[in-house]
Amino acid sequence: MSDRKLQAEIEDLRRRLEEAEETIHAIRSGAVDALVFDEANGPRIYTLETADRPYRLLVEQMQQGAATLQADGTIVYCNVRLAQLLEVPHERLIGAALHDFVAPADRAAYDHLLGQGRNRSGQGEARLQRADGALVPAYLTFNPLPKDCGADIGVLVTDLTSQRHHEQLAAAHEALADAARRKDEFLATLAHELRNPLAPIQNAVQILRLAGGKPQAVLPATDMLERQVRQMVHLVDDLLDVGRINLGKIELRREPVALASIVDQAVEAVRPLARSLHHDLRVTLPPEPITVDGDLTRLAQVVGNLLSNACKFTDNGGLIRLSVEREDEKAVIRVRDNGIGIAADELARIFDMFAQVDSSLERVQSGLGIGLTLVKKLAEMHGGTVEVESAGVGQGSEFVVRLPALAETAERLRSELAASKSKFIPSRRILVVDDNRDAADSLAALLKLEGHETQLAHDGVEAVAAAATFKPDLVLLDIGLPKLNGYEAARKIREQPSGKHMMLVAVTGWGQEEDRRRSHSAGFDLHMVKPVDYPALMRLLAAMPPGRSIG
Ligand code: ADP
Repeated sequence: MSDRKLQAEIEDLRRRLEEAEETIHAIRSGAVDALVFDEANGPRIYTLETADRPYRLLVEQMQQGAATLQADGTIVYCNVRLAQLLEVPHERLIGAALHDFVAPADRAAYDHLLGQGRNRSGQGEARLQRADGALVPAYLTFNPLPKDCGADIGVLVTDLTSQRHHEQLAAAHEALADAARRKDEFLATLAHELRNPLAPIQNAVQILRLAGGKPQAVLPATDMLERQVRQMVHLVDDLLDVGRINLGKIELRREPVALASIVDQAVEAVRPLARSLHHDLRVTLPPEPITVDGDLTRLAQVVGNLLSNACKFTDNGGLIRLSVEREDEKAVIRVRDNGIGIAADELARIFDMFAQVDSSLERVQSGLGIGLTLVKKLAEMHGGTVEVESAGVGQGSEFVVRLPALAETAERLRSELAASKSKFIPSRRILVVDDNRDAADSLAALLKLEGHETQLAHDGVEAVAAAATFKPDLVLLDIGLPKLNGYEAARKIREQPSGKHMMLVAVTGWGQEEDRRRSHSAGFDLHMVKPVDYPALMRLLAAMPPGRSIG
């Protein structure tokens, strides 16, 4: 090596040493803003002592992240705020590609913005991603920088987290307000619907009081009472069902059920309404019986709700058709009417809770807007579906329920049906216990008409005494009783020698699983919800083993 060359190298080394000393000094004095190692030019120091210090201080104090980038997106400089946003040490960002800190799903959008930013301003949203995977919603603004200023693009990063938070809060607030409004509407409708039957009931009671037993006055009044009470029971049942569905507490009592029985039960319930509105209700059943694995009462409720809607939403004298057919593995139930129809934009929300197309209370046939919710949930609980079709307002509607059908032989069903019809119910001794004397008297009177021997008790102590002396086959025992409640009365009856084999049925207003469990552990055989479903009681009496009768 020549002396000259050696001299030049020594000079170069000395210069680098001086630079290194300067760097060390700058680091010690805390004035280093950034230290960049550039392969071509060696280390470069950015200090706050430089001429652009006021601007740098400004940028450091900003609430936004800020960075200058090379054309390829490499970070030349960035403020501390950006490092805080990304939760990475500041020095790791310098020389890194900002692209790598963008959420993978948003990188294409970021690259597009960056490409634009080389020539003109542009902005857009992209989510940044922290090392722990957390996403930070951000608004990025790109600006091209003047030539020879050490970087090509400036970028500002606005954290949108708190804005998003506000937006979410506002949306939640909106949803709450909407729910509160729907609840108020619902309560108004409920009050209206519960009040509706009260006036005719009051009138009927007055008529009965004044009629002096004249059949021509008594019969229509009792018919009216029955209709109105049925409507109230229906309303309250729907309400309870919705509550149970919301709590996931509805239980199905599934067994093979003939669709003919479901249809019969539903049609029987709706026929008085159809008749009063002069509708022509036509039922078509297939020649071969179809069975499903389901809960007869619930499925009859599904079909009954659709039929009563068809009646309600069709002008007097309409045509309502109910048909059942088998489509491959499915039983298909169609309820079609030529009534007011449903607008296309209402079809989707019609199964929502409290949804009513016309919520004005003036509408004659309003309900609570929960019937179709129940229909849908109950169909789904049976593994089925429900769909609605309507060509539009005034064009009628069709509801189609599809349920999984069982593969059954027609013969077996026919013989089962015949057997159930000819079942003979022997006379039983029945003790009816209820502190509501009207409820107890009327139930006992009905049972007497069916040929059974009955006795009454109106409190728990009376019930225990009557059980010992009357020795009934069956006790229908209310739970909320004076002196001794139904659970305690049941326990005491079971302690009696004759009480061991009696059929004890709890009759209560509460049908939740917890109530059933309690009555079971008190010694009840069965739990029935008030008002007692009379056909179910008849089935129970038919099913009671003959040996049970002591009489
Ligand atoms: P409700 O009958 O108590 O109002 P539903 O849940 O049974 O509640 O029905 C919700 C709404 O769907 C009704 O208020 C009515 O607007 C509309 N609807 C239901 N069935 C029919 C039908 N067959 N024809 C026209 N509209 C119907």
